[in-house]
Amino acid sequence: MKNKQFLLKTRPVGTPTRDNWDYVETEVPELADKQVLVKVAFISLDPAMRGWMNDGKSYIEPVQIGAVMRASTVGQILKSNDPKFQVGDYVYGHCGVQQYAVVDTQGLHKIDPSLAPLERYLGVLGMPGMTAYFGLLETGLPKAGETVVVSGAAGAVGTVVGQIAKIKGCKVVGIAGGADKCRYLVDELGFDGAIDYKSENVKKSLKALCPKGVDVFFDNVGGEILDDVLTQIRMKARIVICGAISQYNNTTPVKGPSNYLTLLVNRARMEGIVVFDNVANYPKAAAEMAGWIKEGKLKAKEHVVKGIERFPETLLMLFKGENMGKLVLKVDAE
Ligand code: NAP
Repeated sequence: MKNKQFLLKTRPVGTPTRDNWDYVETEVPELADKQVLVKVAFISLDPAMRGWMNDGKSYIEPVQIGAVMRASTVGQILKSNDPKFQVGDYVYGHCGVQQYAVVDTQGLHKIDPSLAPLERYLGVLGMPGMTAYFGLLETGLPKAGETVVVSGAAGAVGTVVGQIAKIKGCKVVGIAGGADKCRYLVDELGFDGAIDYKSENVKKSLKALCPKGVDVFFDNVGGEILDDVLTQIRMKARIVICGAISQYNNTTPVKGPSNYLTLLVNRARMEGIVVFDNVANYPKAAAEMAGWIKEGKLKAKEHVVKGIERFPETLLMLFKGENMGKLVLKVDAE
């Protein structure tokens, strides 16, 4: 059986290009003991993939040159050499950017497509949802009546952060690129306000929308937006450093915040998070979020692109702001 795969060919300098990838068709290998063959249905596109393409130390090993690109996936088991997994089972795992994967069952988790569409297990019910849930609730520590601001607000993590903050009784303002995204946040997701950083002065708009200041800032973007929000924080504010997508394709050093002394003045703190620290508690969080979805309090949105061949340009959509909600690649073109 032939398998379409994307391998990392070279490490990018700045924004990745088509030349960084090798698109190959290979034979699917035989299964060893405790392995399964997975037909991948959906591939998660994550900003973190850009970091995995770099050499050097991070919270996870870089993808090696010549290896299948790492990616979270959902799919169905076609063959099994492990009695715990049956043919036909649906699974979440890290099967990579390929049509079929022969993988050890160790890192696979069964999922139930009758409870939610498969792709949702890569979004609200998957890693981005867990990032929002634990990052906001355990590090942001929002209290009812407080003001929560989130950047990258119309994306996979941001949409969930804002909605959970609303569920917890906070005032929520999102920062996103473009009028459509801002309208979506307010009209569809119930945010109290939204700032289009591409056409507005973020600092001025924050002052107008958050006159008492910002208690919790959940930052997905870094750079100038982080600096602008730092000027508006309140006493004892919590700033959650989830990501800094504005910096991932830099060819110059990351731009750190120059307004960090507002932390001192306001006795505030800034703390980084890594979603994997909460793996043990994912099931509990996913159950609570599934409950919120059922009650209509949490809306899930996936942005689906079809055809594995489109992987390189689909990944770049994240950096161009072309996705709304969780960006996933459906392996099949139809
Ligand atoms: P996403 O928000 O769905 O997609 C990325 C969005 O970032 C784009 O749609 C774009 O929206 C915005 N963006 C891109 N370049 C930008 C720039 N230069 N300035 C401002 N905004 C820019 O992605 P996601 O999966 O939810 O991830 C969001 C962040 O969380 C990323 O930084 C990611 O690395 C981080 N993350 C961290 C963890 C963790 O464990 N710490 C886990 C998951 C994700 P606009 O149109 O609004 O610009």
